[in-house]
Parts: sequence; structure tokens; C-alpha cells
Amino acid sequence: FQSKLPHVGTTIFSTMSQLAQQHGAINLSQGFPDFHCPPALVELVSEAMRQGHNQYAPSHGIALLRQQISRKTEWLYGHRANPDTEVTVTSGATEALFAAIAAVVHPGDEVLVQEPCYDSYVPAIELSGGVPVFVPLTFPDYSVDWQLVEEKLSAKTRLLIINSPHNPSGAVWQRADLEALAKLADQYPFLILSDEVYEHMVFDGQPHQSLLTVPALAERAFVVSSFGKTYHTTGWKVGYCLAPAALTVEFRKVHQYLTFSTATPFQHAIAAFLEQQEHYLALPQFYQQKRDLFRELLRPSKFDLLPCAGTYFQLARYDQLSDLPDVDFSQWLTREAGVAVIPVSVFHHDGQDHRVIRFCFAKKEETLRAAAERLCRL
Ligand code: PMP
Ligand code: GLN
Repeated sequence: FQSKLPHVGTTIFSTMSQLAQQHGAINLSQGFPDFHCPPALVELVSEAMRQGHNQYAPSHGIALLRQQISRKTEWLYGHRANPDTEVTVTSGATEALFAAIAAVVHPGDEVLVQEPCYDSYVPAIELSGGVPVFVPLTFPDYSVDWQLVEEKLSAKTRLLIINSPHNPSGAVWQRADLEALAKLADQYPFLILSDEVYEHMVFDGQPHQSLLTVPALAERAFVVSSFGKTYHTTGWKVGYCLAPAALTVEFRKVHQYLTFSTATPFQHAIAAFLEQQEHYLALPQFYQQKRDLFRELLRPSKFDLLPCAGTYFQLARYDQLSDLPDVDFSQWLTREAGVAVIPVSVFHHDGQDHRVIRFCFAKKEETLRAAAERLCRL
């Protein structure tokens, strides 16, 4: 039997979370909050269950949630998505990413991926018979080298995957990046998949540069986001995909046979909670405080912190502490210092190891303080 994904093993997120548990380490590896979601949201889920919203949701998502998503994106980004034909609720952003790729990538098609990149993109491309073409982000600021992107485009390029705010680096796009992309889109017929799950985690007063703010790009793009990130509910797995009607038709063909629909009570709860803009409007400040605290706490340590403009991840170099490769260092840190992290080389497909690790700071203040105390002892 020949594996369809010979290079895929267990994800680093499962591996490191398991190692953290095994060693009783503080888990700053896999990205998820260790604090509660808004209590009102929990009440709304219970209420939806009590009201009997416990059977299959419509495949595209309940109407009210699609309307609320549409309203929110119009208000934030000035983009009008028709809730009936251009919005689909998915089981997390992971499903949306997979369905978008499977919907448009034919065998032999090239898909441009900027690396380091989130780990679910490439397996989805490969399962569709596509060929990932990697474009390295500039190190150490993880900015896009647009000339390099253009050099990698070919007549076979079907899709370009972009991700801002960027996991794992925390880099965010500037307006000039959207403009550079628009220029290329003018000359080449590729489609775009924009992973914007960290849209509400952009710091220092900068705006999130959503692809939806550029109509010429939005008309050929899938834009994906996740309520797991926005509402501190990664375990609920509710996300969505916005795409023009013609692309949504293809997207929904995959979605209906991948999951058919997404958990009903969560959809009702989120649809109602979306009325409260305060939550997501406060999110940049909420996470910026955590970023600032964590960076301050690590100041006396031997870690060299890279800039963090968005997401809930902080990268660090550790050359003052060790010359181990980042995978070995991450395991050592978990075992010996009691803090689990993610080695960034796993997000590179050419094995590139800049000796950088990723901390997740979506944690309670006491967790960040306890972790920093351990890290400063090294
Ligand atoms: N894209 C990126 C960049 C992510 O970091 C994540 C979450 N780790 C996802 C997609 C998947 O989101 P979800 O949990 O909603 O499937
Ligand atoms: N997106 C999360 C991270 O980057 C993990 C998601 C997962 O565990 N699959 O850490």
C-alpha cells in the first residue's frame, strides 16, 4: 500500500502538547487560550441546545450566522458578500482551507505557498494532486519578497495562498503588500486563498489588511477566518469562507461531502453573539497587553525576541543558550525547563532551520509569569 502523504507524520501541535503533558511542562506550544471564552457565549450555546437546535444545520450554515458574517465583513472591510451565495460556514478554518484547495486545484496545478507556513496547506495541495511551489519569506522579518513571488509564477499557477497576520511569525501585511499582489493579479490569472484567522490580532494601532478591502482581489479569492481564534473557542471548530458566487458553488460541492455541516448550537450562539462588536473590537488591545507583558517578562532572559506585530505568537532566537537544532532545543526546553514551544523549522519544507522557536502567549497572566520565570532561569 502506497501512502498518499508519505512525508506527513503526526503534527507538531499534537506532538508538543503531548510532550508538555508527559513532562508536566507549561504548554506554550500549540496555539490555544488557557482562559475561558465570554460566559455569555456559553449561555447562548446552552440556550440553543435547550431550544432544540441539536440536529443538522443547513449545509451552508444557518441563515442568521451567514447574515451576521456578511454584515461584519461589510462593516469592517467594506466588502459586500451575499449571505446566500458567497458565505459558507465551515468546521473551523482548517476545513475551509482544505475545501477551497480541493475545489480549485487540479492534478499538476501549481500552488504558491510562502514559507514558513501553517502546516495544513501543503497536505491539502498534495491530496488534490497539486504541486506546492515554495516562496521563502524574508528572514528575519518574514516580509514578502514580491519579486521572488513573481519569479515563481508560471502558466501552471492556479492558486496563491497568503496568510496575514502570519502564523508562525506574527508578521502582518502592509498596504503595499496588497498593492503588490493586486499588480500581479492584474497580469496573471491565479486564484487566491487568504487565511485571515488572526484578523483581530493586529497590534500597535495598525489595521488588518484584509484582502476583502481590494475588490479586484476579492473577486478571485477565498477568504477564510475562524471563530475559534476570535472567541477563544478553538475546540468548537467553527469557521467560514467568503468567496464570489462562482467559487462558492465549487467550494460547497466539496464542503457538503467533507463535513456536510457544522455543529448547530454553536452556530446559533455565535450568530447571536456577533451583535456585540465590543468583543472583537477589544481583541487587539487584549492580546497586545499579553504580548507586551510576555516580552517584558522575557527581557532578562537569554532569548532574543523577534518583532511581533500580530497573532498570539512570539518568536525567539536562542543562540545564547544552545546550538541545538530547533526541534531538539524545543524538546530539551520542554523536558529540562518545563516550557513547551514549537520549533519553527517544521513550518519550512526545505528543512530550513533559523534556530527560532515559537511561544504562544494566548495565556492567563499567571501562566505567562510562571513560564517566564522558568525561561529566565536558563
Ligand atoms: N490557519 C492558521 C494560520 C492557523 O493558525 C489556524 C489555527 N491554528 C488555522 C488556520 C485553523 O483554524 P481552525 O482551528 O479554525 O481550524
Ligand atoms: N493553529 C494552531 C497553532 O498554530 C494549532 C492548530 C492545531 O493544533 N491543529 O498552534
